[in-house]
Amino acid sequence: MKKFWTILAIVVAAAIIACLVFCPKKGKKAAEEPKAVSAIVVVDELYDFIDGSLACHRSDTCVANSAALLAEAAKDPSYPIIFVCDHHPANHCSFAEQGGPWPPHCVQGTRGGEIADELKQYVKAEYTFNKGEDPALEQYSGFEGRNSAGQTLDEMLKSLGVQEVTVIGIATEFCVRNTAEDLMKAGYKVTIPEDCLACVDYQGHVEAIEAMKAEGITIK
Ligand SMILES: [Zn+2]
Repeated sequence: MKKFWTILAIVVAAAIIACLVFCPKKGKKAAEEPKAVSAIVVVDELYDFIDGSLACHRSDTCVANSAALLAEAAKDPSYPIIFVCDHHPANHCSFAEQGGPWPPHCVQGTRGGEIADELKQYVKAEYTFNKGEDPALEQYSGFEGRNSAGQTLDEMLKSLGVQEVTVIGIATEFCVRNTAEDLMKAGYKVTIPEDCLACVDYQGHVEAIEAMKAEGITIK
């Protein structure tokens, strides 16, 4: 009987020691794990895509719904709201006069290249990534842009610990799709609210949405 009590005492002591040793460590480990941070990436909500040379379908609702989404997100001042912008020189290779598929658009210094007024209040220089600045390069993806500090979008998102990205903007089939796919390939969880998109061609929009769904991008 004495042996039983001795064994019980050892078991209880071992349980207490185990709890003291492991429980605080567990708590510490949880605190050290990076927080799941999310961000919004706004693609090309620029006047040439809204009402200019490349005006897109549903651009008005896209801008209005984007403004509502950003107003909600901006309630947390630390929430990253990132802009990706076409920022072309006048002789860009994507323009028809240079043999490209598009009319001139989003030329540096013109209204067509400006972000929609409804969204301007959320713009920060370090969170703005310009693309298509090299006359010889077409860059649909925000992943190819740089901010004023020379950072890429991926570098900035990683520095902020971002893991989940909501992508909105124009145009579904081109810059939105390319940006969303590059984010997904780089390991981010990507969500696209469909009411915050505008497109060059509606059928192209539908096909792009289906393709992105199949690739694992969440469309809501
Ligand atoms: Zn362009």
